[in-house]
Amino acid sequence: MNVKELDAAYVAGTYGRFPVTLQSGKGSIAKDETGKTYIDLGSGIAVDSFGYADGEWADVIAKQAHTLQHTSNLYYTEPCAQLAKALCEKSGMKKVFFSNSGCEANECAIKTARKYAQEKYGKDRYWIICLENSFHGRTITTLAATGQDHYHHDFTPLTEGFLFAQVGDVEGIKALTAQYPVAAIMFELVQGEGGVNPLPHDFVTALAEIAKEQDILLVDDEVQIGNGRSGSLYAYQEYGIQPDIVSTAKGLGGGLPIGATLFGEKTEGVLKPGDHGSTFGGNPVVCAGACNIVGRITPALLAGVKAKSAYIFKSLEGAKGVKGVCGLGLMIGIETQRDAGAIVNECLEAGVLVLKAKDKVRLLPALNIPDETLQEAIAIMKTICAKED
Ligand SMILES: *Cc1c(COP(=O)(O)O)cnc(C)c1O
Repeated sequence: MNVKELDAAYVAGTYGRFPVTLQSGKGSIAKDETGKTYIDLGSGIAVDSFGYADGEWADVIAKQAHTLQHTSNLYYTEPCAQLAKALCEKSGMKKVFFSNSGCEANECAIKTARKYAQEKYGKDRYWIICLENSFHGRTITTLAATGQDHYHHDFTPLTEGFLFAQVGDVEGIKALTAQYPVAAIMFELVQGEGGVNPLPHDFVTALAEIAKEQDILLVDDEVQIGNGRSGSLYAYQEYGIQPDIVSTAKGLGGGLPIGATLFGEKTEGVLKPGDHGSTFGGNPVVCAGACNIVGRITPALLAGVKAKSAYIFKSLEGAKGVKGVCGLGLMIGIETQRDAGAIVNECLEAGVLVLKAKDKVRLLPALNIPDETLQEAIAIMKTICAKED
């Protein structure tokens, strides 16, 4: 059996895959089993921050794997401690809990918000306001926090305690906080799976004001936009707010599974020994790799992210067949005249890997994609967008 047949026979059928088996890669170029190469503008859904098989990162994780690969959290290990230090120093957050994925980072954020509010205000204060069209993960609780009904079907009853408001509806959120004892407001600053829509700045400022007045925690899900993709280390720095909890994952590990929940002043001491844990969380190999990634998210790299972003916006805005371009940094959504799915497939055929988000084409290139490579891919995309049906 070839790989496709093996997968069909033995892997649970939860994914709609492209008809391609990727075999190797280097930087922003991926190669399939036939030797065909692709310029990758998806980065394994915002995970491979510095592209495929990045040499520096691969050396670090290989060295750590040859030294000490796992200890459990019963012992101290240096990569975990160093990564937490780097994240806190660079973000201004105070403490970090490590897990293995985005949904786990959000689970930890939700548990922490509930504990903070219930200890301070009593058992009834557990409600969390989320936004319509959000995506926070696939566990039963993070599904409950996800404001898109089509993910919920067949999995009810979900965890209770979540309320929903429309993006931009400040009065609606105020009304919810008047009606319910609210522990937290949880949001993605750029709604990724929802269509790459950045929240309006004035709306985010209003959320921060409501939260401050009522001691409601701000929980910022930066699983997708975090770790340099926004043009800052974290997107809240672009918005000028200070969340109480930031969850992140995807790009942090450069390709290995990691989740991180970052706590601010109000929340750094909420979780006590025994309150939460993860067998693999803080794994030395993963953390050593993540230290390398975080260390390379420098002002120069972030300036590059902004420049590449500006290039994509400038090239595609107003281009034939393109109705609009949205997003932040190197997380970009393109509204196309033709069906986005058709464009994604034609790009694949033409050797460019792009993604979809709702009815848009989504780009999540590596943060260090070379300018020439990006230009080549965008030129191909433009040609495909401009085609008539
Ligand atoms: C991908 C994503 C998640 C879920 O992350 P997993 O690692 O798949 O659990 C949660 N929130 C946002 C914003 C995401 O983009």
